[in-house]
Amino acid sequence: MTDIFARQALTEHGWADNVRIVLSDGRIDSVSPDSRAQDDDFHAGIVIPGLANVHSHAFQRVMAGHTEQRAPADKDNFWTWRRRMYSLAGQIDAEAMKAIARQVYTEMLATGYTSVAEFHYLHNEPGDSGASEAMFMSIVEAAEASGIRLTYVPVLYERAGFDEAQTSDDQKRFARTVDELIEHYEKASAIIADRFQIGIGAHSLRAVTAESLQAIAAVAEKDAVPMHIHIAEQQREVEQCLDILGARPVEWLFDNCAVQDNWCLVHATHIDENEVAAIARSGAVVGLCPSTEANLGDGLFPLQSYLQLGGRIAIGSDSNVSINPFEEMRWLEYGQRLISQSRNVAAISRPHTGHSLFEAVASGGARACGHNGGEIAPGAVNAMLAGHTSLSFLDALVFSGFTLPIDRVMVNGEWRVIDGRAVGEEEARAAYSSAAKKIQAGMEIL
Ligand SMILES: [Zn+2]
Repeated sequence: MTDIFARQALTEHGWADNVRIVLSDGRIDSVSPDSRAQDDDFHAGIVIPGLANVHSHAFQRVMAGHTEQRAPADKDNFWTWRRRMYSLAGQIDAEAMKAIARQVYTEMLATGYTSVAEFHYLHNEPGDSGASEAMFMSIVEAAEASGIRLTYVPVLYERAGFDEAQTSDDQKRFARTVDELIEHYEKASAIIADRFQIGIGAHSLRAVTAESLQAIAAVAEKDAVPMHIHIAEQQREVEQCLDILGARPVEWLFDNCAVQDNWCLVHATHIDENEVAAIARSGAVVGLCPSTEANLGDGLFPLQSYLQLGGRIAIGSDSNVSINPFEEMRWLEYGQRLISQSRNVAAISRPHTGHSLFEAVASGGARACGHNGGEIAPGAVNAMLAGHTSLSFLDALVFSGFTLPIDRVMVNGEWRVIDGRAVGEEEARAAYSSAAKKIQAGMEIL
């Protein structure tokens, strides 16, 4: 395995010069600043840790750009988008899932994500009643082919709404009972144990009963694995939760479950001051997905007050309408600037906003994916970084635009991006193109 000699590297103690990073068994063995290069070292310019993507629905990538025309009979919103998403989900079999996920994970690697939590509820193949593992295996094979580190999060989806007993017809492919889901989790956990991380999740409060949610959370606690849930993405969901359960979603969750630091609350968008404080106190990570939340018109998370209370955050690409961690961080900050009419809102832990955000999402992301962190993804110097020093490198990456100066990305000691190109990208693209064309040809027009 090649060791790395970096001119500058962001280590756990901050920026350092002339850093030798020694690897063994796909892990970092030692990090030594102020060192000399050895003969076989790979020479890198600037090295930063890879980032975790804590929330992905890989299959939704194939919708990107297909839902940007106004639906004829309705005001477009999250719920009209969801109808189109269900129509798409109906087209995706195991073969298409594998092709799409491989392309998505390959794109993630090229932009500096080195791990992904796949929040997976498209469990059943067309016509399957809950026994097939084919959709899950497609995710695993896609992650393996791309080289990304996977946290597989099987998700319970058992009913259509707060006051419904069952899923609707277009949710049948998501439906598993809580016992079936836990059985699947155990099987999946054994299958991926030596390769990937496992987590477990519930789709949302509207899609599971209180008893089932508590059963899933108990599994997560017993096995000390990440527990993920969509919590308060839409105002309508908050209103229904108040009507039927008598409390706001986050408020209800804290009253009914022991939320701890293995929880990842995805889209904690609509929360009041008490809920902000409760999440921050619990040590749970809030999974923010700014590009998707903007695309779907979800709303804005109260970032500043939450960070001031020491709350943990991470980012996710969610619908995969865009795949770029630096864009997620940029829009996270921009949303806050627009609503507060101020600047550098997320600069709480240090004066540099890009650095503060990077540090927060790197550690929150590793936690929500069930890793220790410690991944290293090198990037080389390009024009975007000219005139910057280590003080502002991360600000430049977050705020200077779309083209990223990422030359190489390493996962578990293997190069997965070389000279800016993901290994195997042509093969991934070819399989994705044919799956995407077939799916779009079969989509009903809504
Ligand atoms: Zn989601």
